[in-house]
Parts: sequence; C-alpha cells; structure tokens
Amino acid sequence: TWDYAPAPESRAIANLKPSYRMFLDGQFVEGGGEPLKSVNPATEEVLAEVSTASAADVDRAVKAARRAYDKVWGRMPGAERAKYIYRIARMIAERARELAVLESLDNGKPIKESRDVDVPTASAHFFYHAGWADKLDYAGYGPGPRPLGVAGQVIPWNFPLLMAAWKIAPALACGNTVVLKPAETTPLTALVLAEIIQQAELPPGVVNILPGAGDVGAELVNHPGVDKVAFTGSTEVGKVIQRSLAGTGKKLTLELGGKAANVVFDDAPLDQAVEGIVNGIFFNQGHVCCAGSRLLVQESVADELLAKLRTRVSTLRVGDPLDKNTDVGAINSGEQLARIKELVASGESEGAERWTSPCPVPEKGYFFAPTVFANVSQAMRIAREEIFGPVLSVLTFRTPDEAVAKANNTPYGLSAGIWTEKGSRILWMADRMRAGVVWANTFNRFDPTAPFGGYQESGFGREGGRAGLEAYLDV
Ligand code: NAD
Repeated sequence: TWDYAPAPESRAIANLKPSYRMFLDGQFVEGGGEPLKSVNPATEEVLAEVSTASAADVDRAVKAARRAYDKVWGRMPGAERAKYIYRIARMIAERARELAVLESLDNGKPIKESRDVDVPTASAHFFYHAGWADKLDYAGYGPGPRPLGVAGQVIPWNFPLLMAAWKIAPALACGNTVVLKPAETTPLTALVLAEIIQQAELPPGVVNILPGAGDVGAELVNHPGVDKVAFTGSTEVGKVIQRSLAGTGKKLTLELGGKAANVVFDDAPLDQAVEGIVNGIFFNQGHVCCAGSRLLVQESVADELLAKLRTRVSTLRVGDPLDKNTDVGAINSGEQLARIKELVASGESEGAERWTSPCPVPEKGYFFAPTVFANVSQAMRIAREEIFGPVLSVLTFRTPDEAVAKANNTPYGLSAGIWTEKGSRILWMADRMRAGVVWANTFNRFDPTAPFGGYQESGFGREGGRAGLEAYLDV
C-alpha cells in the first residue's frame, strides 16, 4: 500500500467552489432540502457542500419547466433550438479541462478517461442532437412530430456529466423541457453544466437541475406535471419507478443494470482480445452498466488467454485519479466498495478461484485492486449479479451454441462482446444474443449516432441515434 497527495492545483483547475446551489427557473438558488456533502472518493475529503431540493422545490421546478415549455421552448422553431444546443456543445468543449478535473475529483475516475471519454462524448452528444433539432420534420416521421412536454430525468453516479448529456440533449432537440436530478455522490459537473446552460442563455425553466437523494428522484418522477420519465440507474429502483408510474399515462424509458458476456473464440487474436477484455471490465473501475463482467472463453484457449490476461492486468496502475498514468481510479463511495467486497467474498466462499493484481493500492480512499475469478460456474452470485466494480468472472464454453446459451443465461441484456476472426460467426452470434448492443472485436465503444439500451431487466427504450429521439416525441 502507499499514500499520495493529490495535486493542490487540481482544485483551482476544476474551479472548485466550497458550495454549490441548485439550478431552478434560470437561477442558482438555495434548496429547501438538507445540504449534502460531495466527497472525493480518492481521499475521503469533502469537496463541497451542495444544496438539495425539497418537495416544494421539485414542484416549483416542474412548474417552471411547464411554463417554459408552453410559452417558449415547445413553440420555438427547431432551427432556433439548435443554436442554443450548439452553444452548449461548444461551451462544454471550451471548458473541457475544468470539467474533466472536476469529474475525476468528484467521481474518482482516471483523468485520462474523463478527458478522453466523458467530456468529449458529452460535447459530441449535444453537437449531434443540435443537428437533429431542425430536421425532425424530415426524419421520416411525417409532418408534425410533437415534443412530449416536461421530462423528469434521474441519473446515476458512474458517468455524471455524460449521463446528463445523454438525457438533456435529445429532450431539448425535440422541444421538451427538463428537470434533472443528478446522483447524490456526484452532483458537481451537472451543476457546472447548469452554469453553461445559463451562460448559453437558454430561456429560464427550459433546464432545471436539482441535486438530492432518491427521495427527490421519487418526488420528481411521481410529480403529476411530468409527462415523460427517463431513468438510468439500478434495476431495483427502475422496477420501483415502473410500478409507481403504472396507470399514470406517463412515458417511461429505463436504462438499468447489466451482466454482459464478452465471448472469446479460439480463432480470435488473443492479444487484441486481452486489450478488449481489460477495457471491457476495468474501464471506469468497472462502474459501467454495459461492462464486460462475464468473460466466456472457448475451452481450448482458456489457459493461454487467462495467463495473458493476468500478465496484462498486473501492469494496470491503480491510484490517484488525477495522475495521467492511472488506469484504475477510486471506487465512487464506501458503500459501493463494501458491496464489491461482499460479492468478491461470495465468489471465494462459493469456490471460484480468485486472482488479484499484485499492484500497489493507496491506503486512504476507496480503492480496489483488479480482480479476476477463474473456474466460475453459472450458479455463482459473481456470475449472476452485477458487481459494478473491477471484478471479472471467467467461464468457459465448447461450442457456439453453448456460448449463446451461457451468454443469454441472465435476466439482464444490455450489451455483449464477440471476439473471432470469422465474420459469419459474428453475425450468427449477434443474431442470437439477447443484448441491446453487441460489439465485435472491440468493447465499450460509444457514439451519439448509435442507439444504446437494453433487453429484459436491463430496461427499455433507447438513447442515442434516431431511435433515441422517439423517446421524446409523439408522432
Ligand atoms: P441507483 O438506482 O441507486 O440510483 C440511480 C439514481 O436514482 C440516483 O440519482 C438516485 O438518487 C436515484 N434514486 C434512488 N431511488 C430512487 C427512487 N425511488 N425514485 C427515483 N429515483 C431514485 O443506482 P446507482 O447505484 O446510482 O447506479 C448504478 C446502477 O446504474 C447500476 O445498476 C448500473 O448498471 C446502472 N446504470 C445503467 C446505465 C444504463 O445505461 N443502462 C448506465 C449507468 C448506470
């Protein structure tokens, strides 16, 4: 173990303030809820105090969003809306460094990921959707697709800025107004996005951002003034929301958990596959709904692949999220770390073979060394439950049919990966795997033009691409 001192200038680069207020009807205001403390998971230090919304604040925000929808945004020509959305996209890009450092401080993810993935993809999402705003009439919907009204959106902590972009950009492009609740452990970048939205001069009430815990989320999704609910988070909470909205007539999309199979055939280029497996499960500490958390490897190459994988994983650097050389940052919270440890203990007690990277891990902060379980059977908890951490479960198969059966042996269905030289096999497998996204000879690639979403208990509805717009329109 070791200790490090986070670079003092990082707080200045991130423009970190001692306190943040919520964004309601175009103004930053104090919320009526109990303030929360956002913690740096790498140091366990408080970063800032953040004001949270009360039930009355949620009501005010939904009413502000309704006024903005009725009076301005829902009536504005698409070409006008596009100008605002382009402005947001550019301003995110202009403040990329600040946003990336702030994201890594608040979330714990490595700076190279927030810099190269989260922030540029968030900006790209606004650029892409700005392009749709004035073209919806010509997108094959016929004349007059209509926005839905007020969207209530709730997001998780694993990609705080990017999830906010995934939610807000399509809603605005289609002419809806928004009340968004960020996750309680990572509210900071969403509030900087609110600042950008204010500086981009969006009419007051078009976007409202209300931090708070699950009770604020529940208040928001159940508010009668909300027409559409978009939720990303756990399957457990998704089911609660689905039940509570039954019979209300509200539109709902759910992006929930996953337990993706990453399938490696014996003809795959193994070194390339190893890179994809590592990216699939250790990217963002494995806090990824579509993480390749179940490796299915063909029996004849299992030993060779596992040896290569352990060698490669041993080189991953765990530690300071702000160090450009860090590969695996901090686990987002003590609670999440405890959950990972509990599931890893279950893997050991159920008889799987645990291997942990010998890399040094900082003493302070919430860190967990990359872990690979071999000899995993389908019945074990580590093969069935989402761990949401840097833990890979390795299973084997003999035939393509067996690979499909094992890949689909899950209540989830968000993503999957295939590694093989055979194009025909890729198509055969992709056709049979119940997953919303199937990657071939790559993993965890995201693009605003590609629809993303799940099957089964991974939820329903798509985000991104043309399909993502349908969730925000009545045709
Ligand atoms: P979570 O469900 O605990 O929380 C998600 C959000 O919901 C938070 O903002 C939380 O405050 C809020 N919330 C909690 N209870 C609520 C309620 N009753 N009503 C309304 N809102 C409520 O999940 P988490 O731990 O923050 O995130 C991890 C989960 O999110 C994982 O399961 C992961 O797979 C999933 N996820 C899915 C996707 C996807 O696109 N499918 C993307 C990222 C994360």
